[in-house]
Amino acid sequence: MLASLVARKSASTVPIVPLDAAAFAAWKRGRAQAVKRWIAASAFEPKGNRVLLVPGPKGPACALLGRKDESLYTWSAAAQRLPPGRYRIDAAHSPEEATEAAIGWALAAYRFDRYRSEPAGGAHELVWPAGADRAEAARQLVAIGRARDWINTPAEDLGPAELAAAARTIEGAEVSVVEGDALADGFPAIVAVGKGSGRAPRLVDLSWGDPAHPKVTLVGKGVCFDSGGLDLKGSANMLRMKKDMGGAAIALALAGAIVDARLPVRLRVLVPAVENLPGPGAYRPGDVVRTRKGKTVEITNTDAEGRVILADALALAAEDAPELLVDFATLTGAARVAVGTEITPFWTADDAVAQALFEAGEGAHDPLWRLPLHAGYRRHLESEIADLKNAAATSFAGATIAALFLKEFVGGARTWVHLDTPAWNDRARPGRPQGGEASGLRAVWRYLRSRYPARS
Ligand code: MN
Ligand code: MN
Repeated sequence: MLASLVARKSASTVPIVPLDAAAFAAWKRGRAQAVKRWIAASAFEPKGNRVLLVPGPKGPACALLGRKDESLYTWSAAAQRLPPGRYRIDAAHSPEEATEAAIGWALAAYRFDRYRSEPAGGAHELVWPAGADRAEAARQLVAIGRARDWINTPAEDLGPAELAAAARTIEGAEVSVVEGDALADGFPAIVAVGKGSGRAPRLVDLSWGDPAHPKVTLVGKGVCFDSGGLDLKGSANMLRMKKDMGGAAIALALAGAIVDARLPVRLRVLVPAVENLPGPGAYRPGDVVRTRKGKTVEITNTDAEGRVILADALALAAEDAPELLVDFATLTGAARVAVGTEITPFWTADDAVAQALFEAGEGAHDPLWRLPLHAGYRRHLESEIADLKNAAATSFAGATIAALFLKEFVGGARTWVHLDTPAWNDRARPGRPQGGEASGLRAVWRYLRSRYPARS
């Protein structure tokens, strides 16, 4: 993606002129008759994301871009709709707008090509817009690209071991991996879910930063493949389950941005990495699983495995009382039923943080929506034989009930936020191809940057 942003213009660089209706009317005045006729014949209108090349004596004179509610994705659309070539933006942008335009343009070049034998077609290059923060654009592009690549990689090539290896690609951070006997001793719930697979479960523990800075801990659900376990999913629901480590991918990619920007935080990232398969050692419906915190969980559905592994990771996270604890998890289908795949719902008890996160999501064009952490539904998690059960009998409020399950394990954190991320685009939109997506990453990154501004 970064290769589509270039340092300087060439002789054939085409300026792109973003226009709304008023600017288009002004632009047309005084143009040559031939140009006016070309525009009329092309039926170009200055509406959102429309493009038109305007001919000149030696090739295109410029490209018109319809602009309505301009965002970074306006520039993704321009890159996707214009022919290959080198372009520059002919408009006055603030530094933030310039950075966003660069990110949007480059996102259009994302392609998951690990399994493609043919290279991609011609390049769409943009001269870096004046005033853009190139380091910030690069950092976000790397983070989004990493998250998408990890999510898009099939489970065969990204199991628990490979997910731990992915964490080690975050340069500058320290990574330790808990597995084997140490995992069995400290993290019984992670072991319970992971033992149905021949690929052993583990807990990835990444840390970075000055211990004197505020503690920020991210937790990401790392179910590398979710078959449902013995409560096996049907084929339609299982097909996309390589993406069930999307929360881990987003948390690790976000960690890369935090480290690169040197945010003044003491960062910790915890990823319980497992595969939920119905192998010979698989945990069963009716089993009671012990957790790190000591609470016992009756397994009423082996397909509600994410919350079980998160119980142990969140309990560990809470032990050192972070100022902010954020978990990302592809946790429930109910979250998708509630708000679809283009919005990430979140839960927190902290009203001020909720409002700030909502605004960050709007500003980042990565929408978040708060759902209620309604204590009255806690009763759906009551078990006849254990402290909790993992799946409620009701089909209502499933995403909130899952959040209430997690809440049982986060006691020590000052502020806890849970995001039930889709981590996936069901349909292609400009700059957002169908497939793995870093849903929520740009929103939380924007929030963290404002709460913990880097000192430059
Ligand atoms: Mn499941
Ligand atoms: Mn799952």
